[in-house]
Amino acid sequence: MATRDPVGFLRSEYEQLVNNELDWKLRELEGPSTPRCVVDGKRVLMLCSNNYLSLSNHPKVKQAAIDAVKTHGAGSGSVRPIAGNMDIHMNLERRLAMFKGAEASLVYQTGFAANAGLIPQLADAGDIIISDELNHGSIIDGVRLSKADRAVYKHCDPADLKPVLEKAEEHSPAYRRMLVITDGVFSMDGDVAPLKDIADLAHAHGAMIYVDDAHGEGVLGAGGRGIVHHFGLKRDRVQVEMGTFSKAFGVVGGHVSGSRDLVNFAYNKSRTWLLSGSHPPAVAAACTAAIDVLETEPQHVRNLWENTNYFRKGIRDLGFDTGKSETPIIPVMMGETSAAKRFSSRLFEMGVFALPIVFPMVAKDKARIRTIMNAALTRGDIDEALSAFEKIGEELRLI
Ligand code: PMP
Repeated sequence: MATRDPVGFLRSEYEQLVNNELDWKLRELEGPSTPRCVVDGKRVLMLCSNNYLSLSNHPKVKQAAIDAVKTHGAGSGSVRPIAGNMDIHMNLERRLAMFKGAEASLVYQTGFAANAGLIPQLADAGDIIISDELNHGSIIDGVRLSKADRAVYKHCDPADLKPVLEKAEEHSPAYRRMLVITDGVFSMDGDVAPLKDIADLAHAHGAMIYVDDAHGEGVLGAGGRGIVHHFGLKRDRVQVEMGTFSKAFGVVGGHVSGSRDLVNFAYNKSRTWLLSGSHPPAVAAACTAAIDVLETEPQHVRNLWENTNYFRKGIRDLGFDTGKSETPIIPVMMGETSAAKRFSSRLFEMGVFALPIVFPMVAKDKARIRTIMNAALTRGDIDEALSAFEKIGEELRLI
């Protein structure tokens, strides 16, 4: 008789994470995700949500969801290619393409599903995928699902990308396709990919460009249209623009914009899209309403940037280092893991909710509190957060 416990690893691996303080301790948000909210029974200032523009609470976005439940029901009943493709889904794709200024758009269930479903179809055996070394985990998983060769270039470094492309171009037998993938805004540091230089290089070597603009939409570019607009790039220079409705748009869902050819290809090839149920009508309608709000109420993006500039300056004036941040993602560098953890729990005690980001997500000596600005924070809220950072910074002798 075997004495081995087939599921013993579940507890032992979990306990190992707990012992190394690498387990996720889930916080419970009681009520909506608003700048002042209740987390684990405590009223706090929310400084770590991706709900950049607070659209998840916008009356028009909420109403659109309610109306869609009444007109179309709670669920779609199927995957899109069978019986789950509602007028409400098609309308969202048309609206998104108009917003992006693209020929066509395609909506996935999540951004993760977009990356996992499309990347392995764009490049497979006989091709090469070239990635920024700090790309998001969903891109990494999408790449893992592909049989293409892989190469990485140094973070945001076109000078390092160039020889990688040159080498790929000389590969024998010649690659069928070359795909360069980068995040638009990097979620750990809040820095922006030099997309124009990357796109020019890719173009010179006949490679496709795929940008994941999850943190650039609603943030960068005129009216929050994203990184492609931010750099004024022509559509044919960035063939695949991927994004998500789960951050600045305030809802959930992934998407891809580009040519009609790209969308037709993806409709027929992306397994995550083909084999997974479509969005409930309320989700698709709320996403469409969020696009309407972005187009008609420019003040949200403006407020986001005013708050971002005010908070980042305040934090730097206190003597903290905000690294390479150029966007509403503002890391406050702490150094060691223990300092970041201690800082975050003191912040929470003082009514400010911001999480520590530590190894293995970032290098061991680059632990930080990652703050994320929000359009709906008031000056009073931000001043309160700044005083908490000042008090704890002095208490822990970091400033
Ligand atoms: N790409 C990036 C850069 C992200 O930060 C995220 C979300 N963490 C995703 C993709 C996945 O998006 P979604 O939440 O829609 O699955």
